Amino acid sequence: MTAATGRWIRNFVDGRFVEPDENHSFEKTDPATGLVHSRVHEADAVLVDRAVTAARSALGTWSDTAVRERTALLRRAADLIEERFEEFVAAEIADTGKPVTQARELDVARAVANLRAFADVVAAAGQESFLTELPGGRRALNYAVRKPLGVVAVIVPWNLPLLLLTWKVAPALACGNAVVVKPSDQTPGTATLLAQVLADAGLPAGAYNVVHGFGGGSAGEHLTTHPGVDGVTFTGSSATGAHVMRTVAPRVRPVSFELGGKNAALVFEDADLEETLTGLTRSVFANTGQVCLCTERVYVQRSVFADVADGLVERARALRLGRPLARATTTGPLISQAHREKVRGYFELAEQAGAKVLTGGGIPQLGAELDGGSWIEPTLWTGLTNADRAVREEIFGPVAALIPFDTEDEAIALANDTDYGLASCVWTSDLRRGHRVAQAMNVGMAWVNTWFLRDLRSPFGGVGLSGIGREGGASSLHFYTEPTNVCVSL
Ligand code: NAD
Repeated sequence: MTAATGRWIRNFVDGRFVEPDENHSFEKTDPATGLVHSRVHEADAVLVDRAVTAARSALGTWSDTAVRERTALLRRAADLIEERFEEFVAAEIADTGKPVTQARELDVARAVANLRAFADVVAAAGQESFLTELPGGRRALNYAVRKPLGVVAVIVPWNLPLLLLTWKVAPALACGNAVVVKPSDQTPGTATLLAQVLADAGLPAGAYNVVHGFGGGSAGEHLTTHPGVDGVTFTGSSATGAHVMRTVAPRVRPVSFELGGKNAALVFEDADLEETLTGLTRSVFANTGQVCLCTERVYVQRSVFADVADGLVERARALRLGRPLARATTTGPLISQAHREKVRGYFELAEQAGAKVLTGGGIPQLGAELDGGSWIEPTLWTGLTNADRAVREEIFGPVAALIPFDTEDEAIALANDTDYGLASCVWTSDLRRGHRVAQAMNVGMAWVNTWFLRDLRSPFGGVGLSGIGREGGASSLHFYTEPTNVCVSL
């Protein structure tokens, strides 16, 4: 493949695509087949510096642009994604191997929704003011003016690439910031397409830049160590988040961290069995278990344990692994061979710890064209406890451990016995129990009788190893702006 003839995925800096350099590049494979589909230009420190400098220069124009024009531009970009919808779907599938129905209904559809939702949130935002009354009748007016944070580094993972990217880029741009985006090396495609869409929508050069590459010693580290970055919004693993935090600490930059999870579902004996099984099938296996919100621990009240286990096994076996473009396919591959090795490592650990494999546990044979892909079987275990590593550590695959409990207090204690704190689901038909248990969860998001049902105005994030801060609605506005409080003596 050469710069002239091959399918290149390019960096986007200061409003243009950068001519790729064969000597600084890597191959991108299709996880469904293992075949190379493109070559990606890896940004070096010089190119990252150019991107940050371009973002800094764009700030003046963009932050001075009226809010109604900034939000109108985001809406135009949403319309343009819809016009090129199938191109975005194809790029997401090429990078991840995910089923076409999911790419259409979740990934790309949510990207459009993100752009529109944050245009609405920022357009409607007001400002805080307080009338201060002092002894002796003196008064003062306090009001806070919110200003853009500045140049924001946006670092995102590979599992829901465009969804997670637009979740950050939309509010950042709506608030008047300029961004330098570093997608995962596994999923460079849609961030690059978004560059063209934002430019076509009229975004000034330099306000959105894309630098491709890896983390340490590559574009990710060049970006987080750059002194011109005013804040970092990061979604990824807890270990990388901790590393990024250490990196930016000497310059005391704000961070927003959406990190890993080891999420619990709690199934009570009064839950509607069919509804619960449908919900659990989604929460354990959606996106091949590669959603930070996915359930990997299922606590089930003992009286219904066998029914839930049998029902979930039946549904896991009904999942259809296969070609992403086949309409019947429900489940794609893992993102890479390396990630499959990690997931298989947990399969071994679980079995060594005495897990009973109810279904799955291996590598499926799907036929010649797919056997080079990073496929894995949907897997369910019983026989493990909270002491086992497979129940404590994030696996990020289509797998869950089913563990019985007797009382509500025990279920709450088991679910909260984790270093993570991202999400949980409670399944019950007792309204009061639903509220009570959901509120007792030590997590950022607790669902009752549903999973991954999102209102983009509500706060999203986690506690403990699952992150720092919240994004969504007003929480995004707070992260992507800095207030200056003005106090006027009246
Ligand atoms: P990762 O931490 O390996 O990588 C995330 C991003 O950080 C990538 O773009 C990567 O290149 C970059 N990076 C890695 N090292 C870096 C460094 N030293 N400096 C700067 N950047 C660096 O995570 P991943 O494997 O891509 O994604 C899976 C993880 O993401 C899981 O733990 C999952 O739970 C988490 N996740 C969390 C959420 C959430 O909202 N909480 C959402 C999706 C995924």
